[in-house]
Order: sequence, then C-alpha cells, then structure tokens
Amino acid sequence: MKISELGEFGLIDRLAKAFAETGRPDSLLIGIGDDAAAWKASGVQLITTDTLIEGTHFSLHHWGWRDLGWNALAVNVSDIGAMGGTPEQALLTLALPPDAAVADLDELAAGLVDAGREYGTAIVGGDIVACETLMVTMALTGQATADAEGRPLLMTRDGARAGDVIAVTGYLGDSAGGLRLLAGEREADPEATEHLKRAHLRHRPPLAVGRAAARLGVRAAIDVSDGLLQDLGHVCRASGLGAVVRATVVPMSPALVRSFPGQALALACGGGEDYELVLIAPGHAIQQVQRVSKGPVSIIGEMTADPEHRVRLLDAGGRELSLPAAGWDHLREAPWRR
Ligand code: ADP
Ligand code: MG
Repeated sequence: MKISELGEFGLIDRLAKAFAETGRPDSLLIGIGDDAAAWKASGVQLITTDTLIEGTHFSLHHWGWRDLGWNALAVNVSDIGAMGGTPEQALLTLALPPDAAVADLDELAAGLVDAGREYGTAIVGGDIVACETLMVTMALTGQATADAEGRPLLMTRDGARAGDVIAVTGYLGDSAGGLRLLAGEREADPEATEHLKRAHLRHRPPLAVGRAAARLGVRAAIDVSDGLLQDLGHVCRASGLGAVVRATVVPMSPALVRSFPGQALALACGGGEDYELVLIAPGHAIQQVQRVSKGPVSIIGEMTADPEHRVRLLDAGGRELSLPAAGWDHLREAPWRR
C-alpha cells in the first residue's frame, strides 16, 4: 500500500501508535494529537535540529528505511551529547513522495523507536508534507547536565584553553570507509567489511561519555560530523586557539586499516559522519573520563596559542602532513554543484 492511500491523518495515527513504544516520559503532559506538545521543564534546556535529505545525506541504495529512522534521531542525539546533555523530546518532520510504501514508513518508524529506546527519547509531534524528495527533519530537546547547585555544566566550542589536551572517543573513519564499501569499492575481508558497513549504517553517538565528561570538568567539545580536522577547526576559531594532532595516535579500527591501508588516516581525519566526540580539557579531566568510559578515549593532541587558528596534523617526526580530504562543507559540495 502507498501512503497516498492511507492519507496524512491515517499516517499520523500509524506513526503515533508506533512511537508509543518508546514510552511516555513523566514530564510529558500532551504528546502527538494536539496543536502542540506540552511538557514540564526544569533546569537549563538544550534544543537542536538536523535534516537528512535523500541524495545529499544518504542513498536508499545503501541505507534501509530502518537505518534512516535510527540515524535521523542519532545525529540529533549526537549534538545534545556534544553539549554534555541528555536528550528528551523529539519532533519529526517528514517530506515524503506520495508513492512511498506504507511498509517502508513502518520500517522508518521502527528505526526511530529503536533509537528512541536506546537514547531515552520520545517523539512528541511533527509534521508531514508531500514532496518529490524524501527528507527527514528532527528537532530534539535536551536537559543540560548540572552541578549540585543546579548550575549548567555545558561543553562548548569556545571553552578550550591553550595547553588543554584533545581526546576523541571510539575509532574514526569507519563510517567513511563503510560508505566506500557500500558504494562498491573492493573489499579486503568479510569481517572488516561488515564492521565498516555497519558503522556507516548505524551512527552510535557515545551519549554517556558526553554526560560523564561534562560532570568531570570538560568544558569544550564537538561531535565529529564533518571530519575530525574540520570539526576541530570550529573549536579553534571559537576558542581563539590552534590545535596540534599527532597522526600516529589518531584511533583507527583494525578493520579500517586492513581495508584501506593507504587511505585510513585520510578517512579518519577527514571522512566525517563518525558521530564520535572530541573532548578538550586539562589532562587530569581527560584521564578521569578515560577511567569511567566503557569505550576507548584516545588522547590525540593539544590546543596551542596560534593567532591563525590552524589545525596541524604532525607525523611521528613532527613534520606537518597535508591530507587530500579536508572535510565536508554542505554549501560548497552540494551534489547539484558538482
Ligand atoms: P496542525 O495542522 O495543527 O499543524 P497536524 O495535522 O500537522 O497539525 O498534526 C496533528 C498532530 O500530529 C500534531 O500533534 C502533530 O505534532 C502530530 N504529527 C504530525 N506529523 C507527525 C509526524 N511526522 N510525527 C509525529 N507526529 C506528527
Ligand atoms: Mg501541521
């Protein structure tokens, strides 16, 4: 069945039933079905939004509809996590071709419910419009982590100081490697291929690490969405500093190195869509984060006094490296401009 046969209100009912699976937060007074949602808020609130457009951010040749649902929420969770917060209520705006299949929308909803359960987020409203191009926009609110006196503990791009250590969660470049394999590049071995494809299909922002870091005194962070060096550049400009990253300690998975021996570093530094966290703080705070984190937290460099706000990547001998891929810029690299 096509969604045009179900109609807008039939589809809203169907989605509302699916989203009830994520559970209803105590703070929620009015959810899907009225003119606006209502919930009780306390403390400092966060809000963010992100859009995924078919052909720009994803291809249905690679992602399934369930991956699309998961990732639409996950990319927003990543932004709340990068501020050190806890995600709460989400809005979902769908721009849908009327000939989309109801079964596909069910899969999309299932992916959203999977991610909603994983990250403790409820979908409390949204909008549906007909459009030639498939687009999924989510807005997500969150609660800032606070100290004992209720003061917010935010991690911001302008919170870095010269001498701070730069750390990154997880492994970088897997998602970019996975995309290449999904697009048909030659595969090294099945196990590595599976790992990398999975990394591209399901973004997994390390929400708990972000919250712990905020509590443990990390005051600067950014999530890696456009590539490590580019995203670190945003911190440098906002904080009025430079950064030095040592190539030898940029964390790369064995699967990435095995599949892309000559390009792993470029993928790790400029690939993007990693949705890991860059944490910037005095060394003792980073060490505390390393102690409580379940996954790896690798120290990759430090912030420097640099009036030009450069991000410099150094090899083992301290020589500066330049990489082919400098990161992703949506307006410069929009597909219709290529
Ligand atoms: P209005 O015309 O007043 O904007 P709508 O008819 O668009 O209301 O939506 C009716 C209700 O369904 C609202 O509560 C809205 O938040 C919810 N809703 C609409 N689209 C979605 C969606 N894609 N996901 C979740 N809730 C939705
Ligand atoms: Mg509406």
